[in-house]
Amino acid sequence: MPFRVAIIGAGVVGSAVARELSKYEGFEVHVLEKEADVGWGASKANTGILHAGYDDDPSKFPMRARLCRAGNELWRGLADELEVPVRWCGSLVLAFDENERRVLAELLSRGRSNGVPGLRVVGTDLVQKLESNASKEAVEALWAPTSGIISPYEATVALIENATENGAKLHLETLARRIVVKDRRVVGVETDRGFLEADAVVNASGIFGDLLSGTAGISGFRIRPRRGEYFVFDRDAEPKVGMTLFPAPRPETKGVVVTQTADGNLLVGPNAKDLGEKERESTETTKGGLEEVWREASRLVVGLPPRSAAIRTFAGLRPEPDRGDFIIEAYEDPSGLVNCVGTRSPGLTSAPAIAMEVAKLLAKGGFRFAIKGKWKSRRKAMTRFRDLPSSERDGLISKDPSYGRIVCTCETVTEAEIKEAIRRGARTLDSIKFRTRAGMGRCQGSFCLAKMMVLLSRETGTRIEDVSVKGKGSNVVLGRVRDGT
Ligand SMILES: Cc1cc2nc3c(=O)[nH]c(=O)nc-3n(C[C@H](O)[C@H](O)[C@H](O)COP(=O)(O)OP(=O)(O)OC[C@H]3O[C@@H](n4cnc5c(N)ncnc54)[C@H](O)[C@@H]3O)c2cc1C
Repeated sequence: MPFRVAIIGAGVVGSAVARELSKYEGFEVHVLEKEADVGWGASKANTGILHAGYDDDPSKFPMRARLCRAGNELWRGLADELEVPVRWCGSLVLAFDENERRVLAELLSRGRSNGVPGLRVVGTDLVQKLESNASKEAVEALWAPTSGIISPYEATVALIENATENGAKLHLETLARRIVVKDRRVVGVETDRGFLEADAVVNASGIFGDLLSGTAGISGFRIRPRRGEYFVFDRDAEPKVGMTLFPAPRPETKGVVVTQTADGNLLVGPNAKDLGEKERESTETTKGGLEEVWREASRLVVGLPPRSAAIRTFAGLRPEPDRGDFIIEAYEDPSGLVNCVGTRSPGLTSAPAIAMEVAKLLAKGGFRFAIKGKWKSRRKAMTRFRDLPSSERDGLISKDPSYGRIVCTCETVTEAEIKEAIRRGARTLDSIKFRTRAGMGRCQGSFCLAKMMVLLSRETGTRIEDVSVKGKGSNVVLGRVRDGT
């Protein structure tokens, strides 16, 4: 009998755990996700930084310090194996006065003891050479050459695609209601689609982690939302920073950063606003929050583009644990439960290392790990027509004319790519958007939304009225006007 593991939550952490466990013989891996796609919690609304690992003090946050440094290194191989867009651009923490210079010295010494390679404090000349758009007011900077930027949603999609190719089963639109325990052992998960029997449950439910853990009798920690708001600019907005620019950090946040996404957009944010325990879905942006972001960001670079040039604002919620550190632990009572929560920043960076930690915890329960003979470590990325040279574009069009039909003109996304996204499992407009970038450009979908709806309806045999932005209750049209229905 295979050892059945139910993972609750398909964010970057749950998806990394699914991929890790799908490597081994003897596991049957099920991933339960309440949304219509993977990665729609904190994993799609963050800065995408692969932190170098100097921020976290190991005496206060040992998990964060260790797993961030390890995760940064693991992503180097993983991004390549999974063909996820990543830029190893490095970062600068800018200091503007004596106090902040002292903070840099602390970060340097902490980073070195965390084993972060290549860290240096550099003076104004080198700061300007490394990043000519950095503020001229900065007196010094901490340079972390190993810091990177990844596409966080593509990373999550890639992890889950690779996990499912290796046998994991993904159950979308499946809400876990309760982790069921019998005789001090986990026996499964009660969901809104019935009961899933399991020998072990990995709780990777992000911001809801404490509530689900409580259903299995493990309480003693709380998770609160800490909101971060952003501006995104079009790809041709200037100035473009090549590196990620940070201010000196504060205890609650690494501060508002200015960076360039893995896809080449200028990104500015996030602030850090603590919300009440009940506001676990409050991802709206606020006037005050965005003003704060703008004020802070303006200190870091010379001449940001006008605010009005932003093509979108958005907010994400950090799952902030009251204990401070990640909570990655297994229990004697109930056995079979692995909590994998409190995954605030640097959870994206740490995800592959967290996944290995979960495997170790399961191994302690006596499970023997042997890699499958047929394990496929590589995943092929979607075709990106826009990035191809004309000779390759011509070749594709002659094989499949739907590469010659552009659906999203802002991002140059073709009909063929949208069909590929649907073949890979996209069933909503947002799923197509996050896989292909259709609708992510300057017009934010105004011109391509209708075309995407028609394609989704045609390729999946769904009525156009049933096409939705992000699953149940988010349909775009209510019905047909002309046919009288
Ligand atoms: C503003 C902001 C900036 C950040 N910047 C960075 C950064 O630059 N670098 C970095 O390393 N980290 C960063 N982080 C942290 C990073 O985003 C998170 O650590 C990471 O995304 C957590 O992943 P997760 O899978 O644990 O949570 P999530 O992505 O939230 O995934 C949890 C999943 O569980 C699902 N779920 C919840 N309850 C249930 C249920 N009952 N049944 C079924 N499914 C359920 C949710 O729908 C969700 O998909 C940032 C976070 C924020 C908010």
